[in-house]
Parts: sequence; structure tokens; C-alpha cells
Amino acid sequence: MPDLLTPNKPLQTFNTLALPAKAAYYLPVHSEDALAEGLEWAQKRGLPLLILGGGSNVVLNGDWPGMVIHIQLQGIRRVEDAGSGVLLQVAAGENWNALVNHTLDKGWFGLENLIAIPGCVGAAPIQNIGAYGVELSRFIESVEGIDIASGTRMMMTAEECELGYRDSIFKRALRNRFVITRVNLRLSRKPAPELGYKGLAAAFPDAAAVTPRELADHIAALRASKLPDPAVTPNAGSFFKNPVIPAQRYAALLAQFPGLVAWPLVDGSYKLAAAWLVEQCGWKGRRLGRCGVHEHQAIVLTNSGGSAAELLAVASGIRGDVRQLFDIDLEIEPTVYAGPTS
Ligand code: FAD
Ligand code: NAP
Repeated sequence: MPDLLTPNKPLQTFNTLALPAKAAYYLPVHSEDALAEGLEWAQKRGLPLLILGGGSNVVLNGDWPGMVIHIQLQGIRRVEDAGSGVLLQVAAGENWNALVNHTLDKGWFGLENLIAIPGCVGAAPIQNIGAYGVELSRFIESVEGIDIASGTRMMMTAEECELGYRDSIFKRALRNRFVITRVNLRLSRKPAPELGYKGLAAAFPDAAAVTPRELADHIAALRASKLPDPAVTPNAGSFFKNPVIPAQRYAALLAQFPGLVAWPLVDGSYKLAAAWLVEQCGWKGRRLGRCGVHEHQAIVLTNSGGSAAELLAVASGIRGDVRQLFDIDLEIEPTVYAGPTS
């Protein structure tokens, strides 16, 4: 039996929605060997696996009947230094926000708009984290990990990761099939603050003078002022993705709903503001029992001591109303894990 394996482990403090699920078996892993041993142990027993990082993008819908492997691999290595930039090899259990701060302190730039996103480095490629006009895909060189079925260590290029809008191959074909152990990121020594996102250019009228640290601090403060802190109000960030629709469909919807909020994408399609759709259906600030929609952020669902069933009832009410009014299917962003008791 692997060292540190714990049966019947409560997971409430390991997920930012504070859902009260338990793991039949829980294993924190601090080394790649411990990870490989844990995977083999679970595979031999046919236990379903759940890989957990910071727990900020999961909905634990009931007790987990198998093994939860909690990734705690640490380490940041500079594997290449070309003068103009660096290639960093970052272990999956490193805290994402701490990494961003570390890179800024070192003078390695690019990640500033992605500051203050909760969670671990290993989960960042899973949904290709994005914020304030920047996505992680810009910086990923490759991702290393273990193929669960064979136990083989593998490296995947950024292209092979099929990174898209809040999406990657790890959410689709490789879902539950690959454990990320390291993420390799290429950063620049030349500051190039990205001010394209609404409000940023206005906050820094002298764009040429702004430093990456100033931009990061500004974004961190904005986020702290707008988003509920999971430690106080349990949540998983945006609960729904912004739907993307073809131009023709957008034109028809706009004719019907002149206030429609959307942004054109480079391929001619339109990204709709999920928050606007939810608000139009009267859900902003609404609660069903102990779960509900945040009063200032219509796509952030919050939990005040409720269950996954209560939370998912809110999500399902929202999705039904948005479908009925706009004929749009909202996709849930966090990964929902259903145990047998759900
Ligand atoms: P977890 O919740 O632990 O896991 C998420 C998924 O990844 C699960 O399916 C899990 O099995 C899988 N996974 C985790 N680690 C690994 C691994 N090493 N190998 C294989 N699979 C793994 N997201 C954004 O994109 N942009 C934002 O601006 C943003 N803001 C947020 C704000 C708040 C307040 C909160 C609560 C969430 C926010 N999120 C945002 C969502 C979330 O923080 C990110 O998706 C983050 O990358 C999740 O990291 P995690 O370690 O918590 O992942
Ligand atoms: P916000 O800035 O008002 O953004 C709300 C939504 O509007 C976001 O989904 C964003 O799309 C979209 N948006 C705003 N301006 C846009 C533009 N000029 N072009 C295209 N899309 C635009 O409010 P916020 O909730 O504080 O979010 C700030 C940033 O942090 C956003 O990038 C958001 O995605 C990110 N964030 C993500 C999560 C998460 O869990 N995924 C949680 C909190 C914040 P995008 O999502 O495509 O950026």
C-alpha cells in the first residue's frame, strides 16, 4: 500500500466550492515515483481515478468511489536561458499565482494578465486558463505527464494539447487518461504588457511606461474587488463558458434582443456574454436554498453549506431558462465528478 494513502477522506477543504464529498482512497503525491506507484495501485484494483490540484474548477457531486490523487509535486527549473527569454519547467503542484509572482520578480514576462487565478500549475493547461485578454496557450512549449493506462511517461507539444477557449485535449480525448506532472513555459525578458482588454488601456494612459508588475498588481486588485473569495464565499469562478455562435445566428438573436452583449471573434463567429444571458433570465443574485448566483457576478455560483445536488439544481434552472429564452445551451465550465451517491 502506498505511504500516505488514507481511506474515507473528507474532501470539503480540498475544493473551493466546499462540497462535502469523501474519497474512498486519498493519496497526496510529492514525487513522480509516488505518483506512478499510486496510479499502479489504483489500476490493479480497478479503482476510478480523480486527479486533484487546487480543487478550484471541480464540482464533486457525491462521494468518490475510487482513488483521489492530490498532486503536490514541487519545483521550478530554468532549463534554457537564451538571453531574450527563458524556458521554465514547472512541477504540476506549484501554486499558479505564486509562479506568476515568481516570474515577475525574476524579470520573466508574459504571465502578468493571468495573475491571481486560483489553482495549481498542472491544471492550468486543462482548460487553457485565460483572463484579461490572455490565454496560457501563448506560453506553453510542452506538457509532461503519465499516460494512466500504460504508466508511460510522455511529453506533448503545445499543438498536441489542442488548446482552445477554456478547452484542451485533456478535457476531451484524454479526459481522465493523462496526469500532467510538469508544464514547460517559454517567457520573455522583454516586457510587452497586453492592454487590449476593456478598461486596461484607460487605466494606463501612458502604455509605453507601464511595467508588467504594475499591470499585474492592477489586475490582482481588480479581481479582488470583483470576485468572491472562495475562502469566504465558496465558488468555482465562472460556472458557465461564454457560448460561441455563428455570425448568422448572432444577427438573428441581435434583432430579437437589441441589448445582446457579444464580441466578434477572428473567425467571424461571436462570443456571447454568458453573464448577460443569465441576468436576462432573472438569475443574478437569486438563490435556491443554500446555493445561488452571486449578486454581482451572474456566472459565479456560490455555495453556503449546501450540497452538489443543490448547486446543480441552480445550474440546471439557469440552463433551462437560458435555453427557453435564447435557444442557447450554456456549457458548464468546471469538471463535474459524479460518485455513486449522487
Ligand atoms: P482542479 O480544480 O483541482 O482540477 C480541475 C480539472 O483539472 C479536474 O478535472 C482535474 O482532474 C484536472 N487536473 C488537475 N490537475 C491535474 C493534473 N496534474 N493532471 C491531470 N489533470 C489534472 N479559470 C480561468 O481560466 N480564468 C480565470 O480567470 C479564473 N478565475 C477563477 C477565479 C476564481 C475565484 C475561481 C474559484 C476559479 C477561477 N478559475 C479561472 C478556474 C480555476 O481556477 C482554473 O481552472 C484553475 O486552473 C484550476 O486549477 P486547480 O488546480 O484548482 O484544478
Ligand atoms: P469582465 O471583465 O466584465 O468579463 C466578463 C466576461 O466578458 C468575460 O467572460 C470576458 O470574456 C467577457 N469580455 C469582457 N470584455 C471583453 C472583450 N473586450 N472582448 C471579449 N470578451 C470580453 O468580468 P470578470 O468576471 O471580472 O472577468 C475578468 C477576466 O477574468 C475575464 O477574462 C474572465 O474570463 C476572467 N475570469 C475567469 C473566471 C473563470 O473561472 N473562468 C473567473 C473569473 C474571471 P473572457 O472570459 O473570454 O475573457
